[in-house]
Amino acid sequence: MVACPECENDLDIEEDEVDEGEIVSCAECGSDFEIITINPIELKPVEEEEDEEEEEEEAEDGDYS
Ligand SMILES: [Zn+2]
Repeated sequence: MVACPECENDLDIEEDEVDEGEIVSCAECGSDFEIITINPIELKPVEEEEDEEEEEEEAEDGDYS
């Protein structure tokens, strides 16, 4: 059995029924997790708003005085 990392609910995943990269959802807390390895199963939280660029590191170049 695989437990939800967030709330420890049983995610009901069988190791031989899932693939790496698959996304699973917890019915209890609603969190999504990506399966990064299947032997043993390891889960990584999915961050939904990943494509927003919060920092533009090179934006302040070229303003010497
Ligand atoms: Zn959960």
